Amino acid sequence: MEERKGRRILMFPVPFPGHFNPMIQLAGIFHHIGFSVTILHTSYNAPDPSRHPHFTFRTIPHNNEGESEEEDPLSKSQTSTMDLVSLIRVLKQKYAQPFRKSLAEEVGGGETVCCLVSDAIWGRRAEDAAKEVGVRRVVLRTGGAASFCAFAAFPLLRDKGYFSIQQNTRSDDPVIELPPLKVKDLPVIETNDPEELYRIINDMVEGTKSSSGVIWNTFEDLERPQLMELSSNYQAPFFPIGPFHKHCDDLPSKTKNKEDYEITYWLDKQDPKSVIYASFGSLADIEEKEFLEIAWGLRNSEQPFLWVVRMGSVRGTEWLEALPTGFMEGIGHKGKIVKWVNQLEVLAHPAVGAFWTHCGWNSTLESICEGVPMICTPCFTDQRVNARYIVDVWRVGMVLERSKMDKREIEKVVRRVMMIEKEDGIRERCLDFKEKANICLSKDGSSSKYLDNLISHVLSFDS
Ligand code: UDP
Repeated sequence: MEERKGRRILMFPVPFPGHFNPMIQLAGIFHHIGFSVTILHTSYNAPDPSRHPHFTFRTIPHNNEGESEEEDPLSKSQTSTMDLVSLIRVLKQKYAQPFRKSLAEEVGGGETVCCLVSDAIWGRRAEDAAKEVGVRRVVLRTGGAASFCAFAAFPLLRDKGYFSIQQNTRSDDPVIELPPLKVKDLPVIETNDPEELYRIINDMVEGTKSSSGVIWNTFEDLERPQLMELSSNYQAPFFPIGPFHKHCDDLPSKTKNKEDYEITYWLDKQDPKSVIYASFGSLADIEEKEFLEIAWGLRNSEQPFLWVVRMGSVRGTEWLEALPTGFMEGIGHKGKIVKWVNQLEVLAHPAVGAFWTHCGWNSTLESICEGVPMICTPCFTDQRVNARYIVDVWRVGMVLERSKMDKREIEKVVRRVMMIEKEDGIRERCLDFKEKANICLSKDGSSSKYLDNLISHVLSFDS
């Protein structure tokens, strides 16, 4: 093992799986190279340190002075009724001061700190805190470059009135400033507080601009034009070193539980490329009516399916109570509904033929890396941009719009995606990207080179 002294990196992830997972994968990459890593994490959605024994964890408590348990805006009862914009606002507010304090203690605590890696969402407050203690800050952007181009264009798009266009009447209009996006692809979130959404995005973009470097979980062969366009407007150097999860075998914690074994056992019994894997990530929720349409659509398609329904993700119900009596029995062994899977393993399984996804960036990248074609049903924010790129630019998937998601349409699209061997080259393009992802991680590949540059860059900070 290399000497780790003086090569210590502090990391500050945002506490959602789509942000935490790539940060922990990045921590694994740094650890592999010989850095020691301390994860400063929020008390909200705190991780289980025993799953990541290579890193030091430090909990940042949130500021709830003078508030009772019920008043605490980060209590389960309060956050369960918040929209995502409000939740991010509260997280940023509540952890700003405690983060400053924890960072100062970590930096003052002996071993030299190389730099802070903070999620782009934390914005300029993380920058101010790092400046105060004299530590350089590198940003991790957990989304793709294409969607970041759209976020960076928000002020312009706003001036041009795109956000006030009636979505239902002109949603198919092109956004001429951002081809190939249409109005309906703009990365907005339904919220009662659109001004706060603009503030969060502006802070993310400006905080990324003023950082000492930007780490991207993407790779050049996938997003070269978008990375080039962005970097020409940024002083901070860019490091597209993705896909993170493919860097080395021992990156994420691979502890398997009983359910994981059951899922693998079930997948092992299916024919190659026969299973449709359906999952809408860690945040999106659906109406009961949509849930039932999905259930019937999957069942009527007569394809084997593995469907993740997170606890509480069907509004107004706990889990599967809305299914008609006898529904699962009617499916027999043909379908499986679970609460969570090890998605990396599922996508890598030879039985999986297609992924019906909400197009979160991690899911998109994970599917591309395994050469699995996608059905795209984006729900909000960058998922819409990712879906447009999957369907029209990389051409590795087909669209199934949420507003058109009834059981007949679902059945039709699922059947179609499973027949694509005979169709227009989607599977070939998927395999081509899979190969490109592997090449970029090879010794002379672009992501490996950027990783070398990143290491030299962060090591130059404390000299
Ligand atoms: N994920 C998983 N099991 C599941 C559902 C999701 O491991 O059952 C992981 C998935 O592999 C991905 C992350 O959770 O790394 C979801 O991130 P993404 O960006 O796709 O979507 P988000 O949850 O942020 O909407």
